[in-house]
This record gives sequence, C-alpha cells and structure tokens, in this order.
Amino acid sequence: MTTSAELIEVSERRSAHNYHPLPVVIHEAHGAWVTDVEGRRYLDFLSGYSSLNFGHGHPAIIQAAQEQLKNLTLTSRAFYHDQFARFCSGLGDLTGKDMILPMNTGAEAVETALKVARKWGYQVKGVAPEQATIIVMDGNFHGRTTTIISFSTDPDAHDDFGPYTPGFRIVEYGSADAIRAAIDDTTVAVLLEPIQGEAGVLVPPDGYLAEVREICSAAGILMIADEIQSGLGRTGRTFACDHEGVVPDVYIMGKALGGGVVPVSAIAADEDVLGVIRPGQHGSTFGGNPLACAVANAVIELLNTGEYQSRAAKLGDVLHARLAEMVGHGVVTVRGRGLWAGVDIDPELATGREVSKALMERGVLAKDTHGSTIRLAPPIVIAEEDLLWAVDQLADAIASF
Ligand code: PLP
Repeated sequence: MTTSAELIEVSERRSAHNYHPLPVVIHEAHGAWVTDVEGRRYLDFLSGYSSLNFGHGHPAIIQAAQEQLKNLTLTSRAFYHDQFARFCSGLGDLTGKDMILPMNTGAEAVETALKVARKWGYQVKGVAPEQATIIVMDGNFHGRTTTIISFSTDPDAHDDFGPYTPGFRIVEYGSADAIRAAIDDTTVAVLLEPIQGEAGVLVPPDGYLAEVREICSAAGILMIADEIQSGLGRTGRTFACDHEGVVPDVYIMGKALGGGVVPVSAIAADEDVLGVIRPGQHGSTFGGNPLACAVANAVIELLNTGEYQSRAAKLGDVLHARLAEMVGHGVVTVRGRGLWAGVDIDPELATGREVSKALMERGVLAKDTHGSTIRLAPPIVIAEEDLLWAVDQLADAIASF
C-alpha cells in the first residue's frame, strides 16, 4: 500500500467520515513545505488550523522534544516533574497571569474555563446554586464536546447530539449591546473568540473587545478569551486581544502551544479566579505531562523573542495588500489580521472546496470553511517569496472557474 490513491481508499473505508480531507497524502514536512507520498511538494497554507505557527519541524522544538523523550515522558499529576514549574511560570509570564491549568486539546481547555467560571460564580460572586449562565457568541467554534456543541449555532456541529447542557446565552458576535442586554444576576462570564476562526476569520468591529472588557469589569463577570486559534503569534501579536490592549480574565490556549508536535492546551488566570479549583475537582492524566511541557517551553521561548509576532505582522501586511488586489476578481471580501485571512470567493463562481482543490493542483494546501470562504494561515516561518507565489496560485485557481 504505497500510492496516495490506495491510502485514501483504505482511510475512507476504515475511518469515520467526520472529516472531508482534500485528496493529498502527506509523508514529510519541513518549515512551510510538505511532501506527499509520490514526492509532490505543496506549500502549507493551513498550518494545522494554526497549530504549526512555527512551521513543521522547527529545530528548537524538535530538539526539546527529542531531549525530553530520552529522559521522561509521563508521570501523571500524581507527582511533580522537572519541566512543570518552568512551563507554568513561563506561560504565566507570557500571559501576565498568576496561574496555569494545563490540559491537552483545545476543547478540554474550553471545558476547563467553563467549569472554573461556574465555580467562581458560585463561590466568589455568590450566584444561586445551579443557576450560573455564560454568555457566548453566535457563529462560535470552541470544540466538539457535548457541552461545547450545546451552544454551537452551526447545525452540523449541534444537531442530533442532544440532550444539551443548559446555562448558555447566545448573543450576536460583534455587538456589545447584545452582551449588555443578556447580563443578569446569574451571569458569570462572557466567552468569545477575539477573532472567529472557523466562522471564516471574522474580525469584530474596532473597539468591540475593549468594550466587552469594560462591560465585564463593570458587571463583575469574567471575560474569557478563546485564543486557541488566534493566539501565540498568528495575528502579529502574542494574543489577538493585544490589538486592543485588552487583558481578559481567562486566556484559553492550545494548538500552537504544542509546537505541532503534541497536543498541549492550558488556561491562564489570576489566583482569585483559578484558585477556586481544589484537588480532585478537575484534571487530566496527560495534561501537563513532561513531553508536553518541554515542547511548550520551547514554544514559549520562541514567543519570548518577539520575532514571530513581528514576522506575522510584517508578512501579514504583504498578504493582505496582495489579497486586497483580488477583490472584484472573483473575490468578494477579504478579512483577517496578521498572517491569517478569510477570503470569500464569489459564490456564483465556485465553492470554497472547488477553489481549495484547484489550489491544491497548483501546489498550495488551504481549506475551505462555510460555503465559499477559504481561510489562509501559512506557518509564520514562510519565506516572503513563497507567500507571494501562493497568492498568485490562488488568483490563478480562481481565474480557472
Ligand atoms: N477553540 C477554537 C477557537 C478553535 O479554533 C478550536 C479548534 O479549531 C478549538 C477551540 C478546539 O480545539 P481542539 O480541536 O484542539 O479541541
């Protein structure tokens, strides 16, 4: 079994169809480039949904993983290990928060934030038992667990998975007034993505995040920012909230925190919030394991240089300037920030998937989301000439319809 066609046939026959991948079978990758089993090369314009911000096989991350593999990979949290303190203080310093709670996947970190917000609501804010509500946004994407999909407005994610977890109020994304109107005595938190990734890289109106921050402070409720996709350099700053000088009460991180090597997620908050969790109330066998911490420590060191954030900002300007020229040429709108863009293709021309396939045939891997939108998120290490070449391929792919 060696050809792409054979491997795809078996994968489709023997795996659940919960994804609809492009027909490419990747064998190897370095930096921004991947190679398929037949030796064809493609530029990665998805970066594992922003998990590969530092590129495939970043030497510092791989070295940290290899060294750790030789020493210690798992202890469980029943014991301490020698990578844990550095991880918590490093990520705490990066976020400016007192404490870290490590998990593995993004959805687990979101669940963690929801549980912490509820407990904080009962124990600190004094909300009546079992009454806590959390305000969430329409168009949100926070993961796939039963509780999280309970407040998804995407029918594919939500329908037929009930009964659903109560305690969430869905309001219009981008409207501060909608949040104000939804707050009452039961409200403990507002959960939002500073930029909605899966929804098509939707950037909220200027000033929105700062207004949400003010609303939450005035109401004495927690602002929780899901920076799983938007954070850790992607938008040209460490966090997307930084663009408005906003510091949420809780940061949720994942994806790039694992350097594209292992799943690592975490929430960060101050002690008055995260201190509500006591032994036995939350955890994960693998959360905060030595390999995960060693890899994340390398990632945090890369972010501490500031190089990746400024590179994403600089290349982001190049990307958005070039994409702006395509509006009116098969492209209806372009949104985004830093090295992250949602490109709406004229729906009369082609679907996002058709364009993604045409792009793949031209050597660039990107993925559609919701109808005619393509999202672009190359690794931050991409060379400028490769970036421009890929956008030329996108223009060419669109022109082919
Ligand atoms: N939150 C956001 C904003 C995401 O983009 C994602 C994944 O795309 C998640 C949460 C879920 O992360 P995971 O797939 O690691 O559970």
